[in-house]
Amino acid sequence: MSRAYGGDGGTEAQGSMAGKDLTKPSKLLPRLHRGLAAGVGEALEVVLRLAEDERRTLYLVGGGVRDLVLRRVQVDIDLLGEGPMRSLGEKAATVLGGRWVEHRAFGTVTVEGRGFRLDLAMARVERYARPGALPKVTPASIDDDLARRDFTINAMALALCGRQRGELLDPFGGMGDIAGGLVRILHDRSFIDDATRILRAVRYEARFSFGIEEKTLALLKRDLVYLDTISGARLRHELVRLLAEDEPEEGLLRCQELGVLAAIHKALRFDDELAVAFRRARRARQAPPRPEPYLGLLGARLSPADAEAVALRLTLTKRQRQALEGAADLAQLLPWLSRADLRPSQVVDRLEPYLLPAVEAWALVASQSAAGEKLGHYLAEWRYVKPSLDGRALERLGVMRGPAMGDVLRLLRTARLDGQVSSRRGEVELVQGVLEGRVEMPGAEAGEQ
Ligand code: ATP
Repeated sequence: MSRAYGGDGGTEAQGSMAGKDLTKPSKLLPRLHRGLAAGVGEALEVVLRLAEDERRTLYLVGGGVRDLVLRRVQVDIDLLGEGPMRSLGEKAATVLGGRWVEHRAFGTVTVEGRGFRLDLAMARVERYARPGALPKVTPASIDDDLARRDFTINAMALALCGRQRGELLDPFGGMGDIAGGLVRILHDRSFIDDATRILRAVRYEARFSFGIEEKTLALLKRDLVYLDTISGARLRHELVRLLAEDEPEEGLLRCQELGVLAAIHKALRFDDELAVAFRRARRARQAPPRPEPYLGLLGARLSPADAEAVALRLTLTKRQRQALEGAADLAQLLPWLSRADLRPSQVVDRLEPYLLPAVEAWALVASQSAAGEKLGHYLAEWRYVKPSLDGRALERLGVMRGPAMGDVLRLLRTARLDGQVSSRRGEVELVQGVLEGRVEMPGAEAGEQ
């Protein structure tokens, strides 16, 4: 039933479709082995040998095959075989001196150890009781397993051992779609069964600079309403994966164009200005992208009430929520932040409760304004300002431990921020002034007065 391509090349998939050269399937296996890190390669050899001892065929499936064809770095080794995987995983872990974990609900086993991680999945079919429901999982053939997948480019399997070694199963024309640069679903109900595939389609389209195939695109638009059937956790998971792409703004612009964002929540939107801010956010941060800075930017376009609703819909984690809702909330501070008469300490007091990505978002979005300038100062300098004197030094000067100590430290920080003192000596004089009653402490008692 599968459209299989022989291990020695000579296939209908090679050649050029849409003007692009297709990899010969015979080249995939050597390419896989060349591309694997040493630890992974050895572990894979062991698993394949054990599978052959049991006269079983294991396949590389899903994104692994797609990435092999596209010559992208191999990250996931997802292996698929017919029948239970538990004993194979257990044996492999023993031989390799690693660990194995079974995920019963999906019939998968993960084997991992030093420098490797392999996922072994039992071929299965999934039946959806209703749109968006978690599927009911039953053991099945490789062909059936490929048929439950999201897109043709992810529905290929490369046999890694046994008599079929080197053979590519490509029942839906995934090779042709890779060559043509197309994201295509396998059947007309695909998005109804699982509307997370809408976000996945946009993610692959943007990542590979592909296009969503015409009919798939029409169905995607038709089925946007089914996003309502998806749980917050699954929606968040796919959105966070989109945000983890190298250039998430491409996918988000497309989501905006197709109405995907509005289908998630009517107020959620993305535009060219935010795309620019996304790029600048990436340049500003050396660390690998985390979703919070991007969520802050998305929050900058929302009212506080809408941000709260979006956070609820997506069941965001606490930090994610603080980024999104914080940025929405901060919008209301902007007129105040534009005032020319503000002291740095006042700005710090108002901004410190916010999660950094929320402040960073506004510093990017409003960078050209008076408020943006203050946000920039806060991020680059003011938030780091600390008095030179610490608790011990204050104790030596006669300040009692306890709340008074906190008050004096705050006073010193304010004085530093606002330029009233600029040296340790100045701080000592200020503290002495407080202790001798020459300087008034805002709010609280200080020391032994
Ligand atoms: P990435 O390259 O972003 O890591 P991937 O292609 O490896 O993505 P995963 O989300 O890790 O994708 O899933 C592995 C495979 O499982 C996919 O290639 C696809 O075949 C299948 N799959 C994942 N999610 C779905 C889904 N919602 N519906 C159908 N098939 C899916």
